[in-house]
Amino acid sequence: MSTLCTHLDFVQTNAPTSRVCEECLRLGNTWIHLRVCRTCGHVGCCDDSKNRHARKHFDAMSHPIITSMEPGETWSWCFLDRTLVKGLTRLAPFK
Ligand SMILES: [Zn+2]
Ligand SMILES: [Zn+2]
Ligand SMILES: [Zn+2]
Repeated sequence: MSTLCTHLDFVQTNAPTSRVCEECLRLGNTWIHLRVCRTCGHVGCCDDSKNRHARKHFDAMSHPIITSMEPGETWSWCFLDRTLVKGLTRLAPFK
């Protein structure tokens, strides 16, 4: 299948490093939803948010896989393959 993600080596954490978008907070902006980088645990805001910090993190760091941090959502997405990524461990709660 051409939709399978080939970047599972980038999945190195399930632990978010924040419970907010720190970059939005610094700018005094708000966000809509949060996404967690599965390579480093960076928390950034989604593409529906004004600043799109999750995508900017991918552009800057080339960490391709994010998982939704929204309550009740468990899906993951690969920016490079533009596909949902299945079978990842669930996010740990932020501590
Ligand atoms: Zn991928
Ligand atoms: Zn943000
Ligand atoms: Zn990252």
